[in-house]
Amino acid sequence: MKIIRGRGVSRGVAQGPVHFFLRTGTAVERRQGCDPQGEQARLKAARLEAARNLQSMARRAREQGGDEAAALFEAHCVLLKDQDFAGTMDLLAARGFNAEYAVAQAEEQCAAMLAAMDDPYIQARAADVHDVAGQLLNLLTGAAGPDLDLQTPVILCADDLSPSETIRLDRSKLLAIATREGSDSSHTAILARTLGIPAVCGLGDSLSEALEGRQAFLVGDTGELIFDPDRETLASLRARQDQQARRCSRLAHMADQEDITRDGRRLQVCCNIASPEDVQAVLANGGRGVGLFRTEFLYLAARDCPDEQTQFAAYKQVLQAMGERRVVIRTLDIGADKQASCLPLPREENPALGMRAIRLCLTRPQLFRTQLRAIYRASAYGRAAIMFPMITSPWEVAECRRICGEVMAELTAEGIPFCRETEVGIMVETPAAVLMAPELAKLADFFSVGTNDLTQYTLACDRQNSGLGPFFDPCHPAVLRAVKLAADAAHQAGIWIGVCGELAADPALVPTFLALGIDELSVAPGAVLPLRAAIRESTAGDCTLERLAL
Ligand code: PEP
Ligand code: MG
Repeated sequence: MKIIRGRGVSRGVAQGPVHFFLRTGTAVERRQGCDPQGEQARLKAARLEAARNLQSMARRAREQGGDEAAALFEAHCVLLKDQDFAGTMDLLAARGFNAEYAVAQAEEQCAAMLAAMDDPYIQARAADVHDVAGQLLNLLTGAAGPDLDLQTPVILCADDLSPSETIRLDRSKLLAIATREGSDSSHTAILARTLGIPAVCGLGDSLSEALEGRQAFLVGDTGELIFDPDRETLASLRARQDQQARRCSRLAHMADQEDITRDGRRLQVCCNIASPEDVQAVLANGGRGVGLFRTEFLYLAARDCPDEQTQFAAYKQVLQAMGERRVVIRTLDIGADKQASCLPLPREENPALGMRAIRLCLTRPQLFRTQLRAIYRASAYGRAAIMFPMITSPWEVAECRRICGEVMAELTAEGIPFCRETEVGIMVETPAAVLMAPELAKLADFFSVGTNDLTQYTLACDRQNSGLGPFFDPCHPAVLRAVKLAADAAHQAGIWIGVCGELAADPALVPTFLALGIDELSVAPGAVLPLRAAIRESTAGDCTLERLAL
């Protein structure tokens, strides 16, 4: 028996032949005296194409693994516009160097700068620079990129895998991932976890290519890659596999089951989506509705802001596909970490505290009206609800409602059909919204708690900064108490309350949500089934506030 030990970063047991993924680096030629305008144009075209590819990878990642998986690709899109990275390549092209050399130089400089930082998380981001630069070079040279076609199911071994490589792999042939490098916060680890692929990182040079083709077991829980297990080890591996298989088949039956606890309490499981294409995954996983449609992605991918007709078509498509089930369409939440090139915003010192989300919409009423008209028009084709993000004050909701009223009056005058009873709700994602919840509940038809931002603003912890580790704790009693205050205010006013931040996807928190009185959880489609299983195994009567000790 041979065991190679590393760091288990994504749970599960896989068995199969190991296969090594080898990259062949392309040598970059240095040419000077090129046509600066021509080379700059080539760079611009390659960046645009790379951004389009990254958007579609983000969509695919979101379908398979939710927001966390998609965020990696969205961050790569931002990198394409980064002043140091893109600025350096443009400068070199302007000096007459060929575009390929400009990319390679910008890559080297930026990666070296990141690698020199003290923070290990920031150091690890040099891998992002290499990933994006590799994609640009492939586009410029017309190279096909690494061969990611897996012929048969394998445990894939590599030095490390970039996000763009991981997402392009055929999931049906990818049993598990084993890498020599990498850590808990490496991209392989993050993607593998969100996609549910067992993975072990940091196996070092013991992961030798001489092992190619050998049968192995990869145990994500313990961080082991095991060859030729002895009888005792084999028995324990088989037991783990059986347990895993039972869990999978139990989950497969969950898609058409009801979201009720053993004692009959309903806790609806809905889905978060970012584009009409995501609806397929909602239906396949039996989502009860869409609890959060993040419409900003219609803007992030576009060169120009989507007009009323384009938005109407997207919302109508989702509403028709969802039929009777409610679709909560959130109005534009741009700003802070989500910047759209079609909507350039002035630079801000503290963008997370700046002109974002509803503040942007209320200061650019035409932008807001276009979206509201599109949503109301689409409301004739299904069960739409409108939700406003980043609310802090009752006057904002009153103003939003006033504009909704005007939009409805316009549509009536134009003879355009819409649903006058369309629910209008707000996101509770600021401490101010929590403290004002009793007043806000009188103005809203529902609340939806955005725990990502609520954690950020309650704990004064930047949600983008993974270096904050345990300080960013969405289960902090302060956050849970805030959710409780909002839930109490909602129920007092007779309206429903959901949770649509990442916290909602944790099956271990179902008893907490039941105790807090939450009515709906909205999660990535891939998270529906485990959550439903946890709800069906719970007894609401046992989930009391006393047990939470808040
Ligand atoms: C949240 O803040 O929890 C949320 C769901 O909104 P977003 O992540 O899009 O900011
Ligand atoms: Mg938010």
